[in-house]
Amino acid sequence: MLEPAKAQDERVAIEARGIVKEFGHGPAALRALDNVSITIRENEFFTLLGPSGCGKTTLLRMIAGFEYPTEGSILLHGQDIAELPPFKRPINTVFQSYALFPHLTVWENIAFGLQMLGRPKAEIASRVAAMLKLVRMEDLAQRRTDQISGGQGQRVALARALAPSPKVLLLDEPLSALDSKLRKEMQIELKRMQLETGITFVFVTHDQEEALTMSDRIAVMSRGKVLQVGSPWDIYDKPADRFVADFIGETNLLSAQIVGVADGAAKVRLTSGAEIAATIAEGAQPTGAVTIVVRPEHARAVHQGGQLSGVVENVIYFGTDTHIHIKMDGGETFMVRQQNSRTQSCGFQVGDRAGIEIAADAAQVLRD
Ligand code: ATP
Repeated sequence: MLEPAKAQDERVAIEARGIVKEFGHGPAALRALDNVSITIRENEFFTLLGPSGCGKTTLLRMIAGFEYPTEGSILLHGQDIAELPPFKRPINTVFQSYALFPHLTVWENIAFGLQMLGRPKAEIASRVAAMLKLVRMEDLAQRRTDQISGGQGQRVALARALAPSPKVLLLDEPLSALDSKLRKEMQIELKRMQLETGITFVFVTHDQEEALTMSDRIAVMSRGKVLQVGSPWDIYDKPADRFVADFIGETNLLSAQIVGVADGAAKVRLTSGAEIAATIAEGAQPTGAVTIVVRPEHARAVHQGGQLSGVVENVIYFGTDTHIHIKMDGGETFMVRQQNSRTQSCGFQVGDRAGIEIAADAAQVLRD
């Protein structure tokens, strides 16, 4: 997770207010967005994250002006932009298939939009030079774009979109066609470009790792709704509900009964009968049957003690760490992730009895 180096700008760039989007009419209508409200700040790297079909592209297309809301409004710097056609919005989009002009050079591709806007030649030359520097493509300026790699093409597409200095850049899964190594490099590059330009980036992805590494804030979406908005840390460490906890990273979801609540913390009883303390997610109702989340790296397998206990079912070595699956006395399986040391094995074998020690504040009661 990259910590944002900049002071967070609190001014609002984009606001989506009560957005509903239905495709089709009557009983067959499909509700792609269901009362979505989000606020994206100036100078922010904001990510819409969710599985395929959750509505993130529809929301992005609405900000760009390619789609109109059935209900609700989109505001840019406080102004409703419903009537503003896409080309009049100070917003540019980079798509997954970025469609460069293959017969033009890198330089000409980046200059193209500025020429269409009728900008003076000297301004175009200096702007293209700045963009080539930003995307580190100065050496390939005169290369035709059918003679460059996928990663280089994606950089040119970014430079082309950034050249007219949009206020907001929308990015629709721009890295998904790249191989995983290049993708990781481009994630760091994209974050750098956003910090250097200070432009608000709205990024769409279904890849949680991509969202966690680049974003200042993330909106997690499912079935047309925004379930949680927060920093990568909030989303990972304090997931609000079961979907978010399960979608982001690996996790233990445990059934429990609330036995008491005091000072904003709960005491819960797991199926084994063991009782543990748990914090309460925002909006969660701490009564009756609930689900508890514990991240695997926030617990340790121990030979003696621990709040929970069970029998080791599986020990999986991953190089940097080991995953130990423990079938708890109540029947549920708990996964512990322990960092490996160079000198010692994790100390557990299949069939061993193990205690599970959960770190303070690591267990949380989820919203339904
Ligand atoms: P993906 O990651 O697969 O692109 P997404 O989260 O971006 O998914 P959307 O493309 O926004 O999802 O689609 C949301 C829902 O709306 C889906 O069920 C989709 O089939 C539907 N949908 C999108 N565009 C249209 C359209 N033009 N006509 C009818 N249904 C549509």
